[in-house]
Amino acid sequence: MSRGAASGADALARAGIDAREARLLLAEAGAMPEASVIARPERALPQTALERFEALAARRRAGEPIAYLLGRREFYDLELAVGPAVLIPRPETELLVERALERLARWERPAVLDLGTGSGALALAIKRHCARARVVAVEASGAALELAQANARRLGLEVDFRAGRWFAPVGEERFELIVSNPPYVAEDDPHLGQGDLRFEPRAALVAGPDGLDAIREIVREAPAHLVAGGWLLLEHGLGQDARVRALLEHAGLEAIATWSDLAGIPRVSGGRAR
Ligand code: GLN
Repeated sequence: MSRGAASGADALARAGIDAREARLLLAEAGAMPEASVIARPERALPQTALERFEALAARRRAGEPIAYLLGRREFYDLELAVGPAVLIPRPETELLVERALERLARWERPAVLDLGTGSGALALAIKRHCARARVVAVEASGAALELAQANARRLGLEVDFRAGRWFAPVGEERFELIVSNPPYVAEDDPHLGQGDLRFEPRAALVAGPDGLDAIREIVREAPAHLVAGGWLLLEHGLGQDARVRALLEHAGLEAIATWSDLAGIPRVSGGRAR
């Protein structure tokens, strides 16, 4: 075959990865829309595009997350830039956005705090759908913070980003709503050796022997940063909901509740400050 004459269809057939992912990577490698890969798979592609595609497919075969290879992931109705500095936003976290937006409806100009914003997913989705909210987003990783700020700029959303750990950069400020998708995986959880988690930042995933170290710290400090009637909403893992509710109760919050994600897993818990 002469240089430049190989078709997308040949490349897709040889890739050895999931067909949908292969199309996405080929579109990325050829700087073309996925629709054109689907519509004209027989089209000959430039050698450089094929080489780029083969390199991406090899990394995918080695397990690298598709979101990192593409450099983006959809979350709620936003397209976010992502990379190895941040946790890949997951569909179950959209439940937290929904519960957050419902609660924000009752305030004229709520202040919202997102702890450990990563790519900015929660802060940006909330700001997009509740423009009157003042949103503060905290992140300890400098690389993650830069990525979140770039996402905000590209999406034209105004969020007040602050560097630091949990409540450290907010002083005595109080909020109508605090949200977080903190690390909550136990340090010996076998899932850490599987799938995308192998490539994601450990600090965004792992929180001590039972996975609850970050949640304990956040829940303990939250009441001092909530207005009366303000809400704390947290994502957590499978089987952690009863312990998270107990922590919320111990912190003096009321109206404590847990909500399940689309897979039926209790995924978000929260409570209201008195
Ligand atoms: N939802 C992720 C997982 O278990 C964990 C995310 C987190 O720790 N916040 O795949």
